[in-house]
Amino acid sequence: MSYTDASPLVLEQTVEKAHHAFAVYKNCSLQQRYALLRSIAEELKKDEDILVAAAMRETHLPEARLRNELGRTLFQLESYGAAAASGRWLDATIETRPNASGAAVNLRKTLIPLGPVVVFGASNFPFAYSTAGGDTASALAAGCTVIVKAHPAHAETSTIAAAALARAVKAQQLPDGVFSHVYGASFSVGEYLVKHPRVKAVGFTGSLRGGKQLFDWAQQRQEPIPVFAEMGSLNPVFLLPDQLQQQALSLAEQLAASFTLGAGQFCTKPGLLIALQSEALSIFEKKLAEHVQKMIPVPLLHTGIATAFLQHRQQALQTSSVSVLAESDQDSTPQQGRPTVAMVTASDWLHQAHLHQEVFGPYTILITCKDQDEIAKVANALDGQLTTTLMATEKDLHDYRFVIDLVKEKCGRLILNGVPTGVEVCKATQHGGPFPASTDARFGAVGEDALKRFSRPICYQNWPQGWLPAELQDDNPLQIFRTVNGQLTR
Ligand code: NAP
Repeated sequence: MSYTDASPLVLEQTVEKAHHAFAVYKNCSLQQRYALLRSIAEELKKDEDILVAAAMRETHLPEARLRNELGRTLFQLESYGAAAASGRWLDATIETRPNASGAAVNLRKTLIPLGPVVVFGASNFPFAYSTAGGDTASALAAGCTVIVKAHPAHAETSTIAAAALARAVKAQQLPDGVFSHVYGASFSVGEYLVKHPRVKAVGFTGSLRGGKQLFDWAQQRQEPIPVFAEMGSLNPVFLLPDQLQQQALSLAEQLAASFTLGAGQFCTKPGLLIALQSEALSIFEKKLAEHVQKMIPVPLLHTGIATAFLQHRQQALQTSSVSVLAESDQDSTPQQGRPTVAMVTASDWLHQAHLHQEVFGPYTILITCKDQDEIAKVANALDGQLTTTLMATEKDLHDYRFVIDLVKEKCGRLILNGVPTGVEVCKATQHGGPFPASTDARFGAVGEDALKRFSRPICYQNWPQGWLPAELQDDNPLQIFRTVNGQLTR
């Protein structure tokens, strides 16, 4: 089957359909949205075997990982649907107390969906951050219609998932424009969609280059629209001295496994390790090297990722101040990523901007610092990150409180004594961070708060009960949590 770029005519028809379907879908109840998301999960589950087989062919990812990821995708659909139905995320707020001058007040605020959303998925998550992934689930849960631009690196998998979505839309007797799917290996397809006046928001997971381009197009429109781009990250790990002294061997094992998990093709891969020079650090280095040397290179997702990995790894290793601490001693083909740990001093890292960029694949770099001042300089020089980790004892936390203060400004998730790979799907998580980790650090792409990205507040002033949306009516027919005259109540 060939996956040719959608023509301008097809794109125009697709956007019109999404626009007209929005007029119907936005008025569906929260329960109807939940029913749609559950139905999508059921349809995907029916196609589990063919979805996994296609994704294995297209991405080189192993079966167990893909089954696991599909399970996560079904959970996202179910949990975002349940979140929508709970109405919590609407932050429904009613104020009917007289104001300070005694005048009557009748203000009621809720959230309404933005309109058609264009979704771009990433190649490293063919299910969970792709066609039926988190952006699609949260946009549908928020009441928006969705147009997915299939990732060309897993077009077949995307087609099978899109068919499951279309069946679910039909089963729920909704207009087929609630969900649409187009192909586009050329950037012009994405550009057309992002610039289309009927499109009201963009969800993107992928590289900084791609996300920034979509963001720029969206801001150049006559009507700028929000782009929620979740992009790459270095996910720095600070190995603080007391913890390193006590746990050098287990830290080496943990971090070797984490930076090579899924061949290092996770946005949360620890791509930067920072430590003070010490005897404990030498022990850590030796152990890390032993683990890495034994690792067997595995095929990367696709040729584009493999080529970029080779280039970026090469560029880093050719920098005169950078040395190789360890690399796999097994042979590798150009399609495979050879696990590699590079090493550089803090003063050199600080002056080499290209070392501050993500190398997507099984690569990390250890920055050695000679004193606390250098640790502070490195922390200061970090760009925005999805995560930052401190490997620290209680003593370290006291001695290095300044690191906590500095990195809090730079990341969305601050981890203590754990690895950054692995993102829990729940309301308390934050998956996003200051630019360039994402284009809007106020929001996150994982967990029920992700719905908020695709909605906006509206305040009803002085409306009689019969004209208010259910969540704002006095008798609370949806039985949802609301803030009424300053009190959280059901
Ligand atoms: P990618 O190359 O940016 O591709 C993502 C999507 O964006 C594809 O559909 C791609 O289309 C499109 N795209 C890319 N550049 C574009 C441009 N200039 N104009 C228009 N469309 C463009 O990303 P990837 O290689 O699939 O995924 C790996 C990256 O994603 C890594 O950097 C990783 O850290 C990041 N990632 C981030 C998260 C997160 O949650 N923050 C999660 C997973 C992955 P084409 O394929 O046609 O180029």
